[in-house]
Amino acid sequence: MAKNITIIGAGIVGIATASYLRRDGHDVTVVDRLAPGEYCSFGNAGILSPGSCAPQAMPGVLGKVPGYLSDPLGPLAIRPGHFFKALPWFLRLVGASRLSRVEQIADALRPLLNQTFDAYMPLVRQAGIPDIIRQTGYVVAYSTRAGLQGDALPWKLRRDRGVLMEALDADGIRQKVPQLGSGYEAGWYLPEQGYVTNPERLTKTLAAQFQKDGGRILRRNVLDIEVSPDGPRALVTDSGLLPVETLVICAGSHSHDFTAKFGDGVPLEAERGYHVTYSDPDFSLPMPVFLPEQKVFVTPMEMGLRIAGQSEFAGNDAEANYARADVLAAQMRQLFPGIRQTDATKWMGRRPSMPDSLPVIGPASHVPNVWYAFGHGHVGLCGGAPTGRLVADLIAGRPPNVDVAPFSVKRF
Ligand SMILES: Cc1cc2nc3c(=O)[nH]c(=O)nc-3n(C[C@H](O)[C@H](O)[C@H](O)COP(=O)(O)OP(=O)(O)OC[C@H]3O[C@@H](n4cnc5c(N)ncnc54)[C@H](O)[C@@H]3O)c2cc1C
Repeated sequence: MAKNITIIGAGIVGIATASYLRRDGHDVTVVDRLAPGEYCSFGNAGILSPGSCAPQAMPGVLGKVPGYLSDPLGPLAIRPGHFFKALPWFLRLVGASRLSRVEQIADALRPLLNQTFDAYMPLVRQAGIPDIIRQTGYVVAYSTRAGLQGDALPWKLRRDRGVLMEALDADGIRQKVPQLGSGYEAGWYLPEQGYVTNPERLTKTLAAQFQKDGGRILRRNVLDIEVSPDGPRALVTDSGLLPVETLVICAGSHSHDFTAKFGDGVPLEAERGYHVTYSDPDFSLPMPVFLPEQKVFVTPMEMGLRIAGQSEFAGNDAEANYARADVLAAQMRQLFPGIRQTDATKWMGRRPSMPDSLPVIGPASHVPNVWYAFGHGHVGLCGGAPTGRLVADLIAGRPPNVDVAPFSVKRF
């Protein structure tokens, strides 16, 4: 039966969810204070990685953090003023890094992310932009063989779950990506991975198609939610009350502001990342490159070459610290010494990150007619369309095609 459904959040998760719900014939309204795709979904690395099932925290993570934090060029930063606020989240992250838990997390993520191409294709075809998705594979490059061996567990987790991986030596890396500077000894080619040539355009075009198909998008800041024991009644917005019947929370790194209204506390952090995009680098790449030692991706996008990475914990509201983007720019000069650096733009975005690297997908615990779809952290682009399809299945009462129990909000 068609329902009246309101979604808070017009990022890739909210728009993909709206698209799949509209396909089921529901009356769907998306509410966001920004235009679609203007928040975290704007400037990510574009990677669609069905194999990215290894969680962020591996056994031994605690020993690595001091080294990362003391390195000004390192991939991790915690603003001093945010340290104690983020501490419970980090303690949970360490708790999720036990080997047995890491295996469970990988088991849960793999079937969800493995659907990324299959779930995006119907949406991008209908929107007339199938070429925005490229299935080129990507290269992983380590400067030393010891570096690769140090990451043996995350790669084993992937391989054990059927991710195709071809070992590369220095020559193999050079053949795949001749533009990369010398000094890479070992790595992988992951043939089934791919990327989106412009994540912002993807979200905006899917949003436009959703509107053409009869969906509504309202530009409003949601300030509060009126709730009764029977479910949500209305959104309190900066333009007045908006009555709601069924509500889906896809508000990225702000989602916990809303789940709290429904009695669900969730440990969600804004894990801030940065990019630098070079519109005229003087060369392109045949495929993305992942540099695990720096924890950065370099992706050939339609607007130029983009390097993206960094994890900065400072909350949602702190100003961007573009010194973190300068770290990426310095890494880019090392990786591609010949790069032309004119017209480089910098950006900061907030990954909605859970300490166990698993998104929250499913019904609210205590209040009927409320659904959650947020917390995808580093893989929200990849997980966007699979999550949208899954939420549509759950709301329709169709049997979901993945086990949703690991994504339940009740795990906290
Ligand atoms: C540097 C970087 C690189 C990344 N690379 C990749 C990658 O290669 N592949 C990948 O899969 N993922 C990647 N990610 C992660 C990915 O970008 C995110 O997981 C994803 O964009 C999250 O989408 P979302 O829709 O949940 O959140 P968002 O895009 O943040 O959308 C949430 C929306 O909710 C709205 N909202 C919040 N509060 C309110 C309110 N009170 N009222 C109204 N609206 C509200 C916001 O305005 C926003 O539009 C990367 C992230 C970063 C930062």
